[in-house]
Amino acid sequence: MRMLMNNLDPDVAENPDQLIVYGGTGRAARSWDAFDAIVRSLRELKNDESLLIQSGKPVGKFRTHDEAPRVLIANSNLVGQWNNYAEFNRLERLGLTMYGQMTAGSWIYIGSQGIVQGTFETFAAAGRKHFGGSLEGKFVLSGGLGGMGGAQPLAATMNGAVFLGVEVDPVRIEKRLKSGYCDKIAHSLDEALKLIDAALKDRQRSRRESSDVDGQAREGSRAGRRANQSISVGLVGNCADVLPEIVKRGVVPDVLTDQTSAHDALNGYVPHGMQLEDALALRRKNPDEYIERAMQSMAVHVEAMLALQKKGAVTFDYGNNIRAQAQKAGVKNAFDIPGFVPEYIRPLFCEGRGPFRWVALSGEPDDIARTDKLALELFPENQTLARWMKLAKERIHFQGLPARICWLGYGERAEFGVAMNELVKRGQIKAPIVIGRDHLDAGSVASPNRETEGMIDGSDAIADWPLLNALVNTAAGASWISIHNGGGVGIGYSQHAGMVVVADGTDDSKRRLERVLTSDPGMGVLRHADAGYSRAIDFAAKQKIDIPMLPKPRD
Ligand code: NAD
Repeated sequence: MRMLMNNLDPDVAENPDQLIVYGGTGRAARSWDAFDAIVRSLRELKNDESLLIQSGKPVGKFRTHDEAPRVLIANSNLVGQWNNYAEFNRLERLGLTMYGQMTAGSWIYIGSQGIVQGTFETFAAAGRKHFGGSLEGKFVLSGGLGGMGGAQPLAATMNGAVFLGVEVDPVRIEKRLKSGYCDKIAHSLDEALKLIDAALKDRQRSRRESSDVDGQAREGSRAGRRANQSISVGLVGNCADVLPEIVKRGVVPDVLTDQTSAHDALNGYVPHGMQLEDALALRRKNPDEYIERAMQSMAVHVEAMLALQKKGAVTFDYGNNIRAQAQKAGVKNAFDIPGFVPEYIRPLFCEGRGPFRWVALSGEPDDIARTDKLALELFPENQTLARWMKLAKERIHFQGLPARICWLGYGERAEFGVAMNELVKRGQIKAPIVIGRDHLDAGSVASPNRETEGMIDGSDAIADWPLLNALVNTAAGASWISIHNGGGVGIGYSQHAGMVVVADGTDDSKRRLERVLTSDPGMGVLRHADAGYSRAIDFAAKQKIDIPMLPKPRD
């Protein structure tokens, strides 16, 4: 119940009055009546009962047993032939369903931090792959500074890059300025480019100076101080207006991506060539015309991305399905832009690695500080983790309940979860810790334009894996489990499952943590081993994961 409420905390949710948590219209409950009924049901729920939630509405309660999940959730699922936005929007208007996104309808959203590390690692991987090591002093351009997209400016500057984010709604930029994720707001492209240009020059100068300065003395030197002056700018504007103008001016970013809510042409993406208020009025008055204009705008937006890619910008799709939307609107080569999973993330998925998160129900930041310390104690050899923890402590402001995210894989998650449970048991952490993950995940997602894009065996659209993931985590005794359709990329484009398990310091909880935090990332290893990734096959053998039919490597 605290996690449901935390999802809707005004510091966490993008639009709590409408129950919208993030990602376009990703909701925590279908209506306020449904929210009240969920809260009432959770208050009355016994330790051997399970509550059923159908797309944000509580629909029943059954006696199960005390190690079964307390809540079972299914969000936004439709039968194949009807699995599209036209049908979904019709059913939503009738009050029969809601869009659960990923962690919105599964009650484990933790604000923009939830994606900061993923974005940080993705940008870092782009730096390693394309720029000989890092994004230091590079220019990153993107769109959308909403719930997830709002993490981009911070993730970019954490990598030493200079960032420009085009966002149509000034309120969203203000929110990022307030949370410290974004440094500056600009109201015209001229103003924004001036800031970016000055920052890039500053960083070039500081690099030249720092190469003259002895490493020891650097920390206190002018160069050392300057090296921290990487900036991020939010520009009020529409990507489909601004990006073509950037092309026209001959400005080429080093890295280009996008996190507007392109997955939803009606309630996410804002069409160009009109004021935001006029677009919002059109959305209400004439949804069909709105969709038509939004689709055309996405075509213009992606054409501009392709033009910048041609001029040398390292360009990738960041999981919002804008390529498929633009392709539908006539941009035949939209998929010349690669997806971020095959480009940067898949090797991590082969080891069940992905965004793992935990939340302190005490509300005490000290509890998270203790878990940060624990993670570093348990995994001293994990350099990425150490680097992330240091940056997170310095730069992440908690939103709602104190929480932490980091990328851990098979083996590490179970060890860490059990150790956190022990700290709760010994009173070193004041209240239970809630442990979950994103649905940007190795083994619980089928999303052919994102997590499962370009699978080596062509199994991109096989949706059995997320369903098996939900089943095994239910059997293993997670605290709540969810099955969703359409997260990230929109209705009909993905099937995925969520899991959350609580460490309350009891032995019962220890057993459940051991089981769930093994089966859940284990599914990621299985899924990739089965597809034929040798990295996953070798990892499964090393970890003694039982695979009845030995998969054949295909790479
Ligand atoms: P959001 O709805 O909170 O924010 C989207 C932002 O885009 C809004 O602030 C909106 O004003 C802005 N926008 C819409 N149209 C625009 C336009 N034409 N020009 C400029 N700005 C525009 O969504 P979010 O939570 O930030 O998610 C963004 C997208 O990323 C969604 O499609 C979501 O499904 C996807 N997503 C990606 C990941 C990932 O791991 N890469 C994870 C979750 C979600």
